[in-house]
Amino acid sequence: MFVLSNPNNDNHLNLLLLIYSIKKLFNLHPLLNLNYDNRKIEISFYDATPWQKALQLSDVLQLLNIFLFLNPQNSNSCFYSRFPIQPYTFYMKGLIFSVKRYSIHDGPGIRVTFFMKGCPLNCMWCHNPEGISPFPENVIRSDKVGEREFSNSEEVGKYYSVENILEVLEKERVFINQSKGGVTFSGGEPMLQFEFLLEALKACKENGYHTAVDTSGYSSTENYKSIIPVTDLFLFDIKHLDEARHIELTGVSNIGILDNYRLLLESRKDIMVRVPVIPGFNDDPDHLKKLKQFLLSTKTESLKKINLLSFHKIGSSKYKRFNIPYRMGNVEPPAKGKIQDLKEFFLEVGVKVKIGG
Ligand code: SF4
Repeated sequence: MFVLSNPNNDNHLNLLLLIYSIKKLFNLHPLLNLNYDNRKIEISFYDATPWQKALQLSDVLQLLNIFLFLNPQNSNSCFYSRFPIQPYTFYMKGLIFSVKRYSIHDGPGIRVTFFMKGCPLNCMWCHNPEGISPFPENVIRSDKVGEREFSNSEEVGKYYSVENILEVLEKERVFINQSKGGVTFSGGEPMLQFEFLLEALKACKENGYHTAVDTSGYSSTENYKSIIPVTDLFLFDIKHLDEARHIELTGVSNIGILDNYRLLLESRKDIMVRVPVIPGFNDDPDHLKKLKQFLLSTKTESLKKINLLSFHKIGSSKYKRFNIPYRMGNVEPPAKGKIQDLKEFFLEVGVKVKIGG
């Protein structure tokens, strides 16, 4: 089963466009069955052999690929930005581009962090460009050893079942338990693969792991409500408070993001707010003052910490590999002293403030 959800009922036009496109595909592949209402499209397969299913599935993905990346820069007409879909929930597998063991920056203790592929945002400073496309990618990786350069083809993105996730965690259980650590789902945007994320979180909780979700806040409120019972900690990004500026910097509105933040503040689950500090983008005194006031005025028991994530260029070399233009070439990381001053500044919110993750 292949499910596309439309959590925001106001996106009918986009939904109709998608239905139209899938119907065209449907005519080409009579073995595909299509059901839809105003919130959800389900594509299933009639009795087909495994190779037929694989063929049809790749066609569906190809169509979506064209659809999603047609115009990713323009948030007003961009289907991808305005319509967070979950294009790879078939067979309940999640597409993961990296697994980090012994992680100490994504929540308490020693953790395993699964980086899930696909993000509906398009932040100018993103240091994980390999996490943006929601599809597996094949890239050429070049490494220099002395004077010689070696090139290898690299597959980015691997499908994991929930059982695969548990197998990875089981191998690290001793370290996780001793350090009071757990598992973190990051990305990309893990909520983009919502159905898989929910199942993975449930299974992790059932197996006694502390769970964290590192999110941009960009998904439906229903989706967040569904994961609250199985999530212990939310790492929640707040990038800019002004909607127009947020669209300019990330490609999407922040209205739903801030609503989701307020929802989580009432959830009695722990929240760590992550603020990327991007010189010339969100670090002007006026915005920082508003942000501090916002964090202060909305604060509940749930807010445990503010993390200041200083802009860096570590991921810039990856852009070329993924054929994405790097837009931050002229921006320099903030001075150490400035970040230290910001730490003092945000302490007035009344929670811990940490520089870094
Ligand atoms: S939300 Fe995170 S992963 Fe997505 S584009 Fe922005 S920085 Fe990159």
